[in-house]
Amino acid sequence: MKLGCKSIFTVLSKHSIKSRSFHDVRVRFAPSPTGYLHLGGLRTALYNYLFALKNKGKFILRIEDTDQSRLVADASKSIIEDLRWSGIVIDEGPIVGGNFGPYIQSERLHIYNDAIQQLLGDGSAYRCYCSETRLDLLRKEALKQRQIPKYDNKCRHLTLSEIKEKQSNKVPYCIRFKLEDFNDPVEDLVYGNVFVNSSKHEGDPVIIKSDGFPTYHFANVVDDHHMKVSHVFRGVEWQTSTPKHLLLYKAFGWNPPKYGHLPLLINADGTKLSKRQGDISINKFRDSGIYPLALANYVMCAGGGFQKEQSLKPTLETLESLSKMFNIENLNSHPGRLNPDLLNDFNNLEIRRKLSNENETDELVEIVRSMVRSKYPERNIDLDASYTKNILNWSAQRLSTLSDLTSENFNFLWTDGNVVNSTELSKDQIDELIGSLDKIEFTKKNIQTTLKSYSGKTQIKFPVLMKTLRTSLSGLKEGPGVAEVMEIFGKEESLRRIRSNLNSSNA
Ligand code: GLU
Repeated sequence: MKLGCKSIFTVLSKHSIKSRSFHDVRVRFAPSPTGYLHLGGLRTALYNYLFALKNKGKFILRIEDTDQSRLVADASKSIIEDLRWSGIVIDEGPIVGGNFGPYIQSERLHIYNDAIQQLLGDGSAYRCYCSETRLDLLRKEALKQRQIPKYDNKCRHLTLSEIKEKQSNKVPYCIRFKLEDFNDPVEDLVYGNVFVNSSKHEGDPVIIKSDGFPTYHFANVVDDHHMKVSHVFRGVEWQTSTPKHLLLYKAFGWNPPKYGHLPLLINADGTKLSKRQGDISINKFRDSGIYPLALANYVMCAGGGFQKEQSLKPTLETLESLSKMFNIENLNSHPGRLNPDLLNDFNNLEIRRKLSNENETDELVEIVRSMVRSKYPERNIDLDASYTKNILNWSAQRLSTLSDLTSENFNFLWTDGNVVNSTELSKDQIDELIGSLDKIEFTKKNIQTTLKSYSGKTQIKFPVLMKTLRTSLSGLKEGPGVAEVMEIFGKEESLRRIRSNLNSSNA
């Protein structure tokens, strides 16, 4: 097994890592329930969680469902299930509750409504009565002129009487925020100082839509403030929105949290992660037999955050120990490459870890037994637990997931071998072979010695004997050695297979 990541997680705890410590840490993961949790989302949630664990802070889950047109039924429920499956403990959020709820934005409309009154009252926000048709024309015109479409802030400048007229005519409106220039750098915990002047590229942003729902930017700022969020770790796609958020904080007279943006996750070949979300959704990994800790180590390995330490021995770290080693100063600001081989390696380590624990081994045995039963329903296999355990221990080094055991390579474990009509062996010789194997302690070495001496005694050429036995035992032409196969099967199963599959055709 090769580990490309050189186990960046090992040995770190022995080093004293220069790290700032933070007080009263409150972080949040704020997914929109527009789909299922995927690798990028899990990565964001995990970094927030590790940061909270490390600083003895709180991890908040907030569901950002203000875009009602994009909601996916059950997405929130499945996001929560996936986070829990990943080992993340939600301190505050839907279902668990907390002092700063509700934690679902659509249940917080009264809070946004109060907040918007402040901005309307002091003139930092205004009602915009522009129709969709006008906005569309503006967009088209800009594109024609090869300019970036942006709202021209027309309604900022309405006179009092114009406003009165619109109001009395009940013209529908949204509310926009007066975007100022932002020339200061944004201090990003991951990227350092970042300069973005939003007002150059966009008009005044909508903060309350005509349906009365807030937009992401507004609700996000209001909630982070009311939920006393201290640090925001989120995808880099939000970096250009941060000045807008900082301006909203300024308009409210609130202190903003600290921001750290997490770079893109990309495939090993540098391409973007699959557009087909299904391929990278957490439940897809789970259903394919990937364990949560393996997935967490895999994702963390791509994103960094741990001092680079070379070690020959790969290790699988718990979230607790990852949190101790985690240091935001070591987060990468370049895209994180995923290495799928590494996921298999981590999962293999997790299978082996489970096999070192009796209870967890029993669970694995049960999983394999039911997997085999459903893979080969026609064979009516009633697997013996100790046989299955034997197989698991033997195959542990080679497995990426337990389902590998029902792949073609391992088919022989669950099938009955092939019937062989051997012209080389007489009936008595077959009985003699079974008799001598029955006498020995069934280790690979003893089996090997017995077969060698049997071949010498009977003058049956060793390679011929091996070929015959291999077919009768496993039906395979190649694969693990005969003695090894017998050792895996154990005495009872091996002799049963030989007895039933090996016929003498020269009786
Ligand atoms: N709802 C946003 C998302 O799904 C959250 C962004 C943020 O963390 O501020 O990405």
